[in-house]
Amino acid sequence: MTSQRPTYLDLERRWKALRVAADMRVREVACVGAPRTLLCAECGDPSLPVVTIAAGMHGDEPAGVLALLELAEENALDPRFSYRLWPCVNPTGYERATRVSADGLDLNRTFGRGGASPEARAIVTANRDRTYVLALDLHEDDEAEGFYCYAYDDGGIGERVLEAVHASGAPCDLRGCLRPDPHREAAEIGGLSFSLLLRRNASARTLTFETPSRSMELASRVAAHCVAVRAALSQTTVK
Ligand SMILES: [Zn+2]
Repeated sequence: MTSQRPTYLDLERRWKALRVAADMRVREVACVGAPRTLLCAECGDPSLPVVTIAAGMHGDEPAGVLALLELAEENALDPRFSYRLWPCVNPTGYERATRVSADGLDLNRTFGRGGASPEARAIVTANRDRTYVLALDLHEDDEAEGFYCYAYDDGGIGERVLEAVHASGAPCDLRGCLRPDPHREAAEIGGLSFSLLLRRNASARTLTFETPSRSMELASRVAAHCVAVRAALSQTTVK
């Protein structure tokens, strides 16, 4: 059970420990123009379809960060896929428990035009020419009453994810599974999020998960993210 928020150094140490323990390829990707790196972890047979999962885009949303670590440490990722994982996209925000990065940027608006933040540029560069069978971004919402998600796909994965979270006993928010129009959303937020960029360029199935950071304890939010990720993976078909 994860009920405490580790420091960023602890996160780095635990991910790097998986190099040996779980045959995980863990590296630090340089953020050009900023004195920091991003953890990038890859596992699975490279010939398998690739799933990408990001967490920690907003530094005050720790549940996704802990859920992704827990799934990796427990070797609970579906073996039908290989993975590219971004364990904590916003290290300086995570350290300070702020939504924005140390540069004052909401990173989830900076994935357009090749990346308008050092963190987004690092990810966009690493993702060049890569395509994914599924892309997930793990977030939290301090106004939500329960779990909900954004789905940018043509199937019913978001709805199945909500059913699985509900069946696990976690509360679901009235918003349920939102399906925003990607072009309108980009105009409204004034940029591209991780999910919008991937939906546009690299992944036909892209979802963003949200757990309620105010109304639910951290351990329960971590558990809800884990259920949601596993449900999304199990609902993803491979030709
Ligand atoms: Zn967020």
